Amino acid sequence: MTYTSSNIARRRFDVVIVGAGGSGMRASLQLARAGLNDLVISKLIAALQSKQGIAPPKEFSHIFAELSIENGCVVRGHRIVIPKTLQSQVVRSLHQGHFGTTKMKSLAREHVWWVGIDSDLEGVTRSCPECIRHASNPPKAPVHFWEPAQGPWERVHMDFAGPFQGHNFLILVDAHSKWVEAFIMKETTTSQTIARLQEVFARFGYTRQVVTDNGPQFRSGEFESYLRQNAIQHKLSAPFHPATNGLAERMVRTLKQGLKKMPSSSPAYLTGNLQQLLQRIRNQRSEATGRAPAELLLGRKLRDELSIMHEKPDEPPPTPQNTKFIVGSHVAARMYGRGDRWIAGRVHKVLGPRNYLVKVSGRIHKRHQNQLCLVSALPVDNLLSEFLRIESLLDSSAPAAELLDSTVSCTDAAEPLGNTAPSPRASPPPGQNDTLQPDTLGEEDALRRSSRQHRPPKRFVFDWFGA
Ligand SMILES: [Zn+2]
Repeated sequence: MTYTSSNIARRRFDVVIVGAGGSGMRASLQLARAGLNDLVISKLIAALQSKQGIAPPKEFSHIFAELSIENGCVVRGHRIVIPKTLQSQVVRSLHQGHFGTTKMKSLAREHVWWVGIDSDLEGVTRSCPECIRHASNPPKAPVHFWEPAQGPWERVHMDFAGPFQGHNFLILVDAHSKWVEAFIMKETTTSQTIARLQEVFARFGYTRQVVTDNGPQFRSGEFESYLRQNAIQHKLSAPFHPATNGLAERMVRTLKQGLKKMPSSSPAYLTGNLQQLLQRIRNQRSEATGRAPAELLLGRKLRDELSIMHEKPDEPPPTPQNTKFIVGSHVAARMYGRGDRWIAGRVHKVLGPRNYLVKVSGRIHKRHQNQLCLVSALPVDNLLSEFLRIESLLDSSAPAAELLDSTVSCTDAAEPLGNTAPSPRASPPPGQNDTLQPDTLGEEDALRRSSRQHRPPKRFVFDWFGA
């Protein structure tokens, strides 16, 4: 990819957008425009493209060998070099959830870099009014150590937190991955607790062990019986020694601290804040494991606002696999005008696993795979083609299906991809005609319909390979 100013604009636009929450969007657009004029980055690009011919700006000379251009961005290894004008925006993004310096640096190491980033990040927690206002005492060392969990979702620690901002929370933490689930609870009854557990277990399956404190919801017969039914062992922390369930306790503290620092003007805001915080916790490196909870539990990082920065701005959506037709396939497409029901054409574009754009007589139509028949890719020999052409001119009212007779094979769910062998079947499967509906007929269809009566008859033969 060449580095054009429009690429730069798009890339910077992306960077800014990902760092912006809803209301910050307007400000970030202004920043994107400002980013276009970043002289240092422009000089750096010129130096990189000149391959040693032009000296880089001096602040980059010590790491120049590590720099390259990727998707229109300067990168250091896999980290995007952020232009000056966008750095504060990215800092805000890294500080989302008001995590401390260590967490922010660790997150930055995965995504972004600029000269002086470490000291910029160190300054954030010291200068963030919310972080100063809600600073907590250093956490006490954990007094109880659980044996390491054997694998993901083997042992889950649970706890209630609150009331906080007028709500109680149920919090679950997976001992292995540190994946956290948190629910705002209207009532903290046993049945409500079980309802939340059902939700979580539907997602990840039953855990083998649950660790709770001695809260009345957790000691009720109903709760015990629910766990027993699902073969979940229940471990209670020592009475009056809540630190035994330290994992859940620590997560409660993290969530509380995070939520406190986020805007909380309405109850809806709280839900949004909570989900934002959860996503960040799940996707950032846990100090205990050195990996992100999502990686350990799901085997992949979540696509989030920071990872979006690494994506190519113009990246097309992934091509659907296992499609019935491929671009260029010879097909007969179902038509819905007054003329022929099936007209030959070729697949122009694969829109999805079952939807296609087909080019028929120079026009593009959108069709579902059930509205397409595979036809032979081999040209009928010249003689036969000439015969059909003459016959079609003589008898312009012959139905297209007759002409297709020996070369059309209608779609069949079991037919493998790329099977272009002619089938003896000439018409769509029984009953299919009744159910065929144009899904979303585009403008082209409308245009085509209105002009159909003016078409010369039997263009099917002429268009056989001209589509
Ligand atoms: Zn803060």
